[in-house]
Amino acid sequence: MESGTAAQSTETGTSNRSGAGAAAEAIEVKNPATGDLIASVPVDSPEAVAATVARVRANQPDWEAMGIEGRYHWLGKLRDWLLDNSERINDTMQAETGKVRGDTGIEGIYLTDLINFYGAKAAKFIGEESVRPHSPLMASKKLYVQYRPYPVVGVISPWNFPLALALGDAIPALQAGAAVVIKPSELTPLGLIEVIKAWQEEIGGPDVFDCVQGTGETGGALIDNVDFIQFTGSDRTGRKVMARAAETLTPVSLELGGKDPMIVLADADIDRAANAATWGGMYNSGQVCLSVERIYVEEPAYDEFVAKLTAEVGKLSQGPDGRNFGKDVGAMTSPNQLAVVEDQVNDALANGARALVGGKAVDGPGDYFEPTVLVDVDHSMKVMRDETFGPVVGVMKVRDSEEALRLANDSRYGLAGSVFGERERAESVARRIEAGAVNVNDVIVNYIAMDVPMGGWKESGIGFRHGEYGIKKYCRPESVVVTRFGGKREPTWFPYSKTRRGLVTRIAQAFNARDLKRRLGLRR
Ligand code: NAD
Repeated sequence: MESGTAAQSTETGTSNRSGAGAAAEAIEVKNPATGDLIASVPVDSPEAVAATVARVRANQPDWEAMGIEGRYHWLGKLRDWLLDNSERINDTMQAETGKVRGDTGIEGIYLTDLINFYGAKAAKFIGEESVRPHSPLMASKKLYVQYRPYPVVGVISPWNFPLALALGDAIPALQAGAAVVIKPSELTPLGLIEVIKAWQEEIGGPDVFDCVQGTGETGGALIDNVDFIQFTGSDRTGRKVMARAAETLTPVSLELGGKDPMIVLADADIDRAANAATWGGMYNSGQVCLSVERIYVEEPAYDEFVAKLTAEVGKLSQGPDGRNFGKDVGAMTSPNQLAVVEDQVNDALANGARALVGGKAVDGPGDYFEPTVLVDVDHSMKVMRDETFGPVVGVMKVRDSEEALRLANDSRYGLAGSVFGERERAESVARRIEAGAVNVNDVIVNYIAMDVPMGGWKESGIGFRHGEYGIKKYCRPESVVVTRFGGKREPTWFPYSKTRRGLVTRIAQAFNARDLKRRLGLRR
């Protein structure tokens, strides 16, 4: 299928094995590159969501009991399915998001690597941990911690990378031993439906993994029923998710929006910096949480950088794409987001900014915004303050790296950032950016460096994915304290005795004061 242009109209149900709660409504999925209706997906009622969660909850203890290796066996089958079906998945991704072919493919590579990463590391990250007691009062005890999963993890995901951001959080949760129910974005449910169907029918995986479909109401019902919520989306919705979860004291991890700065130092390789800004700002039509959105360039490099950036962005081709990598920049997946981008650019232009390339939405069919470079921008403009999430970068000239840092950190967001320049100097600047990740002489690449945590500071999120934390967060530590030897009673138990208590107190005080001999009266 030439998915950028094909219209594939199907009635695609969720995979709900119990068949509970027949859907009253349906969501219509369109191809944003063409405007064609490609599928209609029944919405799950709150009762159906509760039934799905209850079903996987009932099966979770067996899944947990399989152990890390047993679960990796099944996740390995999912990895192989993703590898064997990558072109099919790329077609679906392209059709439901309006991406160009060049923007697909990375999701499968990321997910298969993620399965291998947590398969190999889970024992180290969440295996039983034996602990040596630090106090002599605990000397007779054996201490260890086991990491027990939250029984059911709910994942609520956005539309910009529909599979990576749904499965990417489900995989470590499943590897940890939790059952998982995902609610994908109502704009892009189709790829996930295919994967869940494959898990259930082709792979024959244990019945601990499903999805539910719908809008915010379905998301709310999921929050009400699960034990942990992993949310990826806007900070506006993130606040609502956290408030709803507070009602049941359900813990949340929130991966939210960004307004990532890029700093270009005078000693940077300007060709590399301009190429990175072009890709980092326009990749996936700028609909990337880690997109380069604001660029601060030291004065001596400004003219050359802007000329090169403008030339590179000006060369990009845009429009519906097939399988042949014929275009560079695809559609805006969400019509609402297209309106946000238009509003921000118009606000900037009305307040003195200039568009050196692009600057407006493209006439239909399809939802497109021109790749755009804005100069003469400042922080009074929405385009430099609010998340744009579109193919737009704003460039400012700065006196020096101190001014660049001050502006880069002048944001309510703190997801990531990048610095280009001579390595040592760039690193020293990068380390002062207030964000969960920084890239030196590269952009966005921290997302696939899964050995290290990825998450937002400030209003970009709470919690992290990837690395040790990315799987541990789905577990509750359970401390086990075992008495190895002891008499009929402990010295602190009844009946109370002045002598016994005095001895315990002296030992405890002597140890706590780190002055054993004097406290025990062995030294003055
Ligand atoms: P969104 O917040 O509109 O929606 C995200 C999900 O939340 C969707 O599935 C939606 O149906 C659901 N939802 C909406 N209202 C809800 C409610 N009241 N209760 C529960 N669920 C509800 O976000 P979006 O427009 O789909 O995605 C774009 C945003 O996601 C951008 O801000 C982007 O930066 C962010 N994002 C962040 C990361 C990250 O890792 N930090 C990654 C990708 C995208």
